[in-house]
Amino acid sequence: MDLALNCYACGSDGQLADGTRCACGEPYWLETDARGFEWPDTAERSLWRYRDLLPPVDPERLAAVAGGTPLVRASRLDDDVGARVHVKYEGANPTGTFKDRGSAVGVAVAEASGASAVGTVSHGNMARSMAAHAASAGLDCVVLVPADIPAERLGLIARFDPTILRVEGGYDRLYGASLRVGREHGVRFVNSDTPLRVAGQQTTGLEILEAFAPDGPDAIVVPVSSGGHASGLWKAVRELESAGHLADPPALYFVQAAACAPIAEAWAREANAVAPVEAGETVAYSIANTDPPSGNRVLAAASDTGGAVLAVDDDAILAARRTLAERTGLFVESACATALAGARDLAAAGAFVPEDDVVLVATGTGFTERDVDPVGPAPRTVHVDALDGALESVLS
Ligand SMILES: *Cc1c(COP(=O)(O)O)cnc(C)c1O
Ligand SMILES: [Zn+2]
Repeated sequence: MDLALNCYACGSDGQLADGTRCACGEPYWLETDARGFEWPDTAERSLWRYRDLLPPVDPERLAAVAGGTPLVRASRLDDDVGARVHVKYEGANPTGTFKDRGSAVGVAVAEASGASAVGTVSHGNMARSMAAHAASAGLDCVVLVPADIPAERLGLIARFDPTILRVEGGYDRLYGASLRVGREHGVRFVNSDTPLRVAGQQTTGLEILEAFAPDGPDAIVVPVSSGGHASGLWKAVRELESAGHLADPPALYFVQAAACAPIAEAWAREANAVAPVEAGETVAYSIANTDPPSGNRVLAAASDTGGAVLAVDDDAILAARRTLAERTGLFVESACATALAGARDLAAAGAFVPEDDVVLVATGTGFTERDVDPVGPAPRTVHVDALDGALESVLS
């Protein structure tokens, strides 16, 4: 199956078979004509609800069920953000993150094209997602991970029995190297911002926009690393707006962890190109990309929509992670908590008014994380016969 691609930066056209980047150096995305599109009048809940805007495949098994995640009205966060807060809970996807949307489209297209193997470069969520989707379709899956990956994260990937290679000598070089060797060996790599992944991940945006149609929400705040998800959100906004389906498009705000924030640093310098940074340690390890392949596209998305790119430190991330649990009941990964931490900073800078609808994208579940130490003093111990008195004292 060949699919038409397009470059957001210079407008050049390409084909999926030719590779994933334009001659100008920027990443391609799938070209979609949304002019004839209408919000679907069907009961379909998965991302295939938007099949008119996706590659023409008819997925089965796991690839059929990603997407359709809850959009929760989180009124107990309104005071923090100074607006009406909603949380898009991507933890409800089959393997617990929005990566399933991109994996679903990548695996479904590979399967429909008669490929026997798919692959990805990841140290966590994307690897788990690709391995699971490939397993369900009976495709081989090659996962390239950094050699120093923590054992517990390796275990979460290994459950789905992919071929795992621990690679030394520069994890940052793997993105390009994998696409090259994949083409030679018939492995369809669906990396962080490749066109099929972005096509699938644009459906997070489509679901949010449909919930607020015909206007958008006022702002969407989302964690960013490679820029693949951000690109998908922008693609959804741009295409629907230019096709006349979105009267009032949202501002897109992207949040990074301060210890590894190449896109936010470029934004602060008012540059239109991202420069790689040295890796720093952060609790938000899922968003610690030192050389984001779609970084420039994220800068364009922020400026085109009247948004921004910002960075938040680990203390703010951990505080936001706790607030999300205590005031929304959602158990999110540290990386996702950057969205609330960033929204707090935006609110302090006067970005929102109380009538604004602000959507925080909680990109993944926290049940995959190990650092869930109890907060505060240990719960007290009581004898079963003393329960009556104990409850009376805590409730009074
Ligand atoms: C991958 C990931 C991100 C970042 O998405 P990009 O498309 O790489 O920018 C954010 N949060 C979680 C939980 C992720 O797994
Ligand atoms: Zn180009």
